Amino acid sequence: MTATSARFGSYEFTVLRDGIFETPKEMLAHLDGEAARERVLAAWPGEKVAFDVNCFLLRGPDGLTLIDAGTGTAWGPSLGKARQALRDLGIEPAAIDRVLLTHLHGDHALGLFQDGGAWLPQAQILVPEAELAFFTDETAKASLPESRQGAFKTAAGLLDLYRGRLSTIGSGPVPGVTDIEAVPLPGHTLGQMGYRLGSGPDALLIWADALHLIDVQTADPRAALNFDLDAHMAGRTRLAMLEQAAMEGWLVTGSHVRGLGRITRKDGAFAFTPV
Ligand SMILES: [Zn+2]
Repeated sequence: MTATSARFGSYEFTVLRDGIFETPKEMLAHLDGEAARERVLAAWPGEKVAFDVNCFLLRGPDGLTLIDAGTGTAWGPSLGKARQALRDLGIEPAAIDRVLLTHLHGDHALGLFQDGGAWLPQAQILVPEAELAFFTDETAKASLPESRQGAFKTAAGLLDLYRGRLSTIGSGPVPGVTDIEAVPLPGHTLGQMGYRLGSGPDALLIWADALHLIDVQTADPRAALNFDLDAHMAGRTRLAMLEQAAMEGWLVTGSHVRGLGRITRKDGAFAFTPV
């Protein structure tokens, strides 16, 4: 099954699972250095780290909104299943009204493209302002290894293929929709945005890639994966976000988390309880 739905305020919220991503466990990292990293590696079962790649569909008073767009066909047939999940719901690409992007990494944004064109013929694309600014900055591009330059191409593609229907957003209420707040979660990428639906303990925070490995990084928020552009900033963001989620009692999910849950305090750190 690649889609799971829940009612959320004025929205029907559906997780569209794009597939499962695998990477060697050597990508595990820790902000406290090599000895701490060795402990994380020793405790990790198996040779690979695997996690879900999700995007999300909101059906509500403002039409059809996607949060991120999956990989499309860019990362091969083991991913890209979000498109089929949409078709299974009877939703054609032309019916999507808007996409809220969390950030410009391939597993979130490459699904916006198809055969050198735009996959979504009608949708407005909302991209975090700081994210677009960073990934269109030639100096920033030159400072990164080639393996980390993919999002610059994605930004250029968006500006070209979605020209006239691309706009930037800052933190706070997202324009054009009901009851969605953009929440800056910098570090994984510098402009990464999470989105919060509703308010109070019934709110749902979608934290994008602020956290990849739900059990490891709630128990030890300084554990990481080598996918964060600024690992220390990502660590500070993760800790503050987990503290706030625990305090407010929000439901949470992420681009790489299976299901929804709540964050509680445990043993000086945190735990995730699925609901
Ligand atoms: Zn991701």
